[in-house]
Amino acid sequence: MTTHDVEIAIIGAGFSGLGAAIKLIQEGVDDFVVLDRGRDFGGTWRDNVYPGAACDVPSHLYSYSFALNPQWSRSYSHQPEIHRYINAVADEHGVAGHTLFGTEVTHAEWDEDTHRWNLRYTRDGEQHTMTARNLVGAVGPLCEPNLPDIDGIDEFGGTIVHSARWDTDYDFAGKRVAVIGTGASAIQIVPQLGRVVGHMDVYQRTAPWIIPRNERPYLGVENWAFKHVPGLQAAIRGGIYTFNEAVAAGMTYAPKALKPVEALCRANIFRGIRDPELRKAVTPAFAVGCKRILKSNDWYPTLDRDNVDLVTSGIDRITPTGIVTADGTVRDVDVIVVATGFHVTDSPVFDTIVGAAGESLAQVWDREGMAAYKGAFVHGFPNMMLLIGPSTGLGHTSMVYMIESQLNYLVDYIRTVRDRGLARVDVSKSAQDAFNTDVQHSLRRSVWVTGGCASWYQDHNGNITVLWPGFTFVFRNQTRRFDIAAYDVAVADESDTTESVTGKPVGIDA
Ligand SMILES: Cc1cc2nc3c(=O)[nH]c(=O)nc-3n(C[C@H](O)[C@H](O)[C@H](O)COP(=O)(O)OP(=O)(O)OC[C@H]3O[C@@H](n4cnc5c(N)ncnc54)[C@H](O)[C@@H]3O)c2cc1C
Repeated sequence: MTTHDVEIAIIGAGFSGLGAAIKLIQEGVDDFVVLDRGRDFGGTWRDNVYPGAACDVPSHLYSYSFALNPQWSRSYSHQPEIHRYINAVADEHGVAGHTLFGTEVTHAEWDEDTHRWNLRYTRDGEQHTMTARNLVGAVGPLCEPNLPDIDGIDEFGGTIVHSARWDTDYDFAGKRVAVIGTGASAIQIVPQLGRVVGHMDVYQRTAPWIIPRNERPYLGVENWAFKHVPGLQAAIRGGIYTFNEAVAAGMTYAPKALKPVEALCRANIFRGIRDPELRKAVTPAFAVGCKRILKSNDWYPTLDRDNVDLVTSGIDRITPTGIVTADGTVRDVDVIVVATGFHVTDSPVFDTIVGAAGESLAQVWDREGMAAYKGAFVHGFPNMMLLIGPSTGLGHTSMVYMIESQLNYLVDYIRTVRDRGLARVDVSKSAQDAFNTDVQHSLRRSVWVTGGCASWYQDHNGNITVLWPGFTFVFRNQTRRFDIAAYDVAVADESDTTESVTGKPVGIDA
C-alpha cells in the first residue's frame, strides 16, 4: 500500500477530467493527479464501442474550444475518431504524466481535522490511499450502465451485452437477437445489427422522436479550408451553437414553437416505414423535446426490414432461452442487447463520497433531492467540485460547452483558494437552495415538465434535476468567476488547520 498527498485529485479522465487537468497545467498548478479506472483518456468515448456509436452534436461544436480540430472526417464524429481526438489533446498537453489509469476510487471522505479528502483506491488489485486538499469529481453522468430489473434475467442461458460494455468479440452474424430499449444508443446499434443478424426483436417501451441526421463526410478541400482559412472553424462552430440555442429557447419557454421539429420527425417516420400499423407504433405520445430528440436516417427503415420486429408489449420475464412479453408471447433468442441507459440520478459512485456530516452524497440526495450549486458544489461536501453535476445536462447541444464553463469556475476557485489561503470552502445552504429554486422556476413551463413523458432527466421525486434549463450562455456567464460570497470559508493557519469558520466569506469587505 502506498499513500501520498496532493493539492487536487481529479476522478475521471473523460472530457471533464482531462479538461480540468489541462486548465490546471495552463494555470501553473502542478500538484494534482487524475485517477481513472480505464486504460486511457476518453471516458464515454473510450467505453462506448458498440457498432454505430457516434455523437449527435456536429463535430465542430463537440470538441474543446481550445483544441479545434480541422481534420474531422465527418460532419458528425463517430466514437473511434472522438476517442483519438481526446487522446491526441491529452498528449499535446502532457496530461499522461499526471494520470493514474487502471485506478478505481472506491471511497472518498472529508476529514474535518485535516481539511483534506481521504481517498481509497485500487490499482492492479492492490489497495492504496491518498489525501487531497481538493477533490474534483469528473465521473460522468452517463458512466454507470443500468441493467434492467427484469424477472429471470440472471437465469438467461445466452449472452447479455450492455451497450456501454460491448463485447467486440461476439459474432452477431445470423444470430437471434433481442434489443431492449429504444433510446440514443439503441437507435445507433439496431441499424448496424439489422444488416447481419438472422432475426432481431426490438423491445420498445416508449417511442422516441427522431429527426433526420444530416451527416456526411468532409471533402479534402473543406478540411484544407478548416485549417487554413482564419476564423472559418470558429464561425461554423458559432453558427451551430446559435442554431442549437434557438432550440433551447423553444424547449424551455415555448414548447409549441417546436411544432416544425415534430413535423420533421413525422416526415422521417413516413419516409422510413411503409406499414401504417408500424408507423403508428413508432409515433410518440408525448411532446417533442420532452425526451432527448434523436437523429437517425436508418432507424425506421431498419424496423421495416423483414428480419426485424418491433415489440411493444411490455416484457414480463426472461427465461433461460428467451423473453416472454405481457401478452404471453415467447420469443427465444441467442443474445440480449441491453440498451437501457445509465444510473444517472442514482449512480453508485454517490455512495462512495462522504461529506462533513458523515453522510454520503447518495444519502443526502436521497433525502433532499439531487442538487448542487451551479452543478458543482454541494453543501456539506467542502472543497469538492463536481464537473457536470446536477442541473447541467442538455438535450440540445454540446456538453463540452457546459464542461468548459465549469472549467472556468474551477480555475477561479483554485486561484481563490490559493490567493486567500483557504483551508475549507463549503457552499452555503441558502446559496445552493436559491440557485435550485431558480432552476426549478425556469423549468416550470418547459417541455420537460409539461411534455407528458417520464425521462432519465428526473430524480426519484419526479423533479428535473439533470437538466440546465434555457440558454447555455447564461450558465457560461454564471460560472465565469468563482463567487466566494456564496460560500462559507475558513483560512488555514501555519500548521494548516482552521483558524476560523466565519459563515462569511474571508477577505470580502462588508
Ligand atoms: C453513448 C453516448 C453518447 C453520447 N452522445 C452525446 C452527444 O451526442 N452530445 C453530447 O453533448 N453528449 C453526449 N454524451 C454525453 C457524454 O457523456 C458527455 O458529452 C461527455 O463525454 C462527458 O464527459 P465526462 O468526462 O464528464 O464523463 P465521462 O466521459 O463519462 O468520463 C467519466 C470518467 O470517470 C471515470 N470514473 C468514474 N468513476 C470512477 C471511479 N470511481 N474511479 C475512477 N474512475 C472513475 C470513468 O472511467 C470515465 O473515464 C453521450 C454519452 C453517451 C454514453
